[in-house]
Amino acid sequence: TKSDEIVLKTVGLTKEFGTFCAVKDVNLQVRKGDIHALIGPNGAGKTTCFHLITKFLSPTHGKILFKDQDITHKRAPEVARQGLVRSFQISAVFPEMSVQENVRIAVQRRREPLKHSFRSDLSLSTLNERCDELLEEVGLTGFENSKAGGLSYGRKRALELATTLALQPELLLLDEPLAGLGQEDIHRVAGLIRKAAIGRTVLMVEHNLSVVATLCDRITVLARGEILSEGDYKHVSSDPRVVEAYIGG
Ligand code: ADP
Repeated sequence: TKSDEIVLKTVGLTKEFGTFCAVKDVNLQVRKGDIHALIGPNGAGKTTCFHLITKFLSPTHGKILFKDQDITHKRAPEVARQGLVRSFQISAVFPEMSVQENVRIAVQRRREPLKHSFRSDLSLSTLNERCDELLEEVGLTGFENSKAGGLSYGRKRALELATTLALQPELLLLDEPLAGLGQEDIHRVAGLIRKAAIGRTVLMVEHNLSVVATLCDRITVLARGEILSEGDYKHVSSDPRVVEAYIGG
């Protein structure tokens, strides 16, 4: 049974670019423990919404609440310490370094839950242990000494996920985690997301609807900057407004 606790909430979230309104009065509620997807046709405002929540952009109006705290005017590093962590871009994986070194760096930047500050005073054995756990979690055991830059695209995603999980997110934000992957990697990475969501909440922007259908507990459909429909996949995919938006899109 899922909790009804809301971990992330936006209230009247609005972003204008000049006279153009990309996100309009969005009231989003993400339940604790859910894998929640933000979908919608091109130009719907998904990326803008995601950037607002991850603090890459500031809203024109509205509020963002994380665990009941107003984070609207906080910066990305501060909210990351509170547990709202965005997956790194692939480019943030250091390609010349080994898989192990990449994960180590991330573990050393982990948040310190009690002090809400980053620390790097782990003993070497704890550090190695934590790295091994993360690599196992994302299926990269055996690739410790491989150069990150030489990994397949799917394994780079896995490494990216490991470095993100190293920061101990409560709410993990993923921006199109399946984009650019082949069929086999799609299934592998979707499996990793499902595993990563155990004990955490995931909010993702994703285009791959068939994966969203099987992976996500709840889906918010955006169109023209506004919430068009919300619910489980069955609900939103049978909503005539959603069908229209995608076809008319
Ligand atoms: P999606 O991710 O759903 O495809 P976006 O959030 O990227 O949609 O974009 C929503 C709308 O906002 C689009 O019409 C886009 O052109 C516009 N937009 C996005 N970013 C900017 C910007 N920095 N300046 C002006 N318009 C923007």
